[in-house]
Amino acid sequence: MPATGIEVKCPTCQKTVIWNQASTWRPFCSKRCQLIDLGSWAEESYRIPSKNEFSSDINMDIEDDQA
Ligand SMILES: [Zn+2]
Repeated sequence: MPATGIEVKCPTCQKTVIWNQASTWRPFCSKRCQLIDLGSWAEESYRIPSKNEFSSDINMDIEDDQA
Protein backbone atom coordinates (compact mmCIF):
# COMPACT_ATOMS: atom_id res chain seq x y z
CA MET A 1 0.00 0.00 0.00
CA PRO A 2 1.31 3.46 -0.84
CA ALA A 3 1.93 5.66 2.17
CA THR A 4 -0.55 8.29 1.20
CA GLY A 5 -2.25 8.37 4.56
CA ILE A 6 -5.44 6.89 5.82
CA GLU A 7 -8.98 8.15 5.54
CA VAL A 8 -10.66 9.30 8.71
CA LYS A 9 -13.85 11.19 9.35
CA CYS A 10 -13.64 14.60 10.91
CA PRO A 11 -15.22 14.26 14.38
CA THR A 12 -16.87 17.61 13.94
CA CYS A 13 -18.34 17.61 10.46
CA GLN A 14 -17.93 13.94 9.49
CA LYS A 15 -16.16 14.85 6.30
CA THR A 16 -13.64 12.34 5.07
CA VAL A 17 -10.13 13.56 5.74
CA ILE A 18 -6.87 12.08 4.52
CA TRP A 19 -4.73 11.64 7.58
CA ASN A 20 -1.09 12.08 6.66
CA GLN A 21 1.88 14.23 7.50
CA ALA A 22 0.27 17.18 5.81
CA SER A 23 -2.85 16.92 7.93
CA THR A 24 -2.09 19.63 10.41
CA TRP A 25 -5.43 19.42 12.12
CA ARG A 26 -5.85 15.66 12.13
CA PRO A 27 -8.11 14.05 12.83
CA PHE A 28 -10.06 17.20 12.07
CA CYS A 29 -10.40 18.56 8.57
CA SER A 30 -9.51 22.09 9.59
CA LYS A 31 -8.51 24.30 12.46
CA ARG A 32 -12.07 25.51 12.67
CA CYS A 33 -13.42 22.03 13.21
CA GLN A 34 -10.80 21.42 15.87
CA LEU A 35 -11.79 24.58 17.68
CA ILE A 36 -15.46 23.75 17.33
CA ASP A 37 -14.88 20.34 18.86
CA LEU A 38 -12.80 21.66 21.73
CA GLY A 39 -15.32 24.40 22.33
CA SER A 40 -18.15 21.91 22.31
CA TRP A 41 -16.53 19.77 24.94
CA ALA A 42 -15.74 22.82 27.03
CA GLU A 43 -19.36 23.85 26.96
CA GLU A 44 -20.57 20.28 27.32
CA SER A 45 -23.05 20.97 24.58
CA TYR A 46 -22.02 18.83 21.70
CA ARG A 47 -23.65 19.79 18.46
CA ILE A 48 -23.47 18.68 14.88
CA PRO A 49 -22.63 21.52 12.54
CA SER A 50 -24.91 21.93 9.61
CA LYS A 51 -23.87 21.95 6.00
CA ASN A 52 -23.70 25.69 6.32
CA GLU A 53 -20.52 25.28 8.33
CA PHE A 54 -18.77 24.69 5.07
CA SER A 55 -17.42 27.85 3.58
CA SER A 56 -15.88 28.63 0.26
CA ASP A 57 -12.56 29.51 1.85
CA ILE A 58 -11.73 25.85 2.13
CA ASN A 59 -9.73 25.10 -0.96
CA MET A 60 -10.83 21.52 -1.33
CA ASP A 61 -13.28 19.71 -3.50
CA ILE A 62 -16.33 19.56 -1.31
CA GLU A 63 -18.83 16.98 -2.35
CA ASP A 64 -22.40 16.65 -1.30
CA ASP A 65 -22.11 13.27 0.32
CA GLN A 66 -25.47 13.01 1.98
CA ALA A 67 -26.36 9.44 2.70
ZN1 LIG B 1 -14.44 19.07 9.81
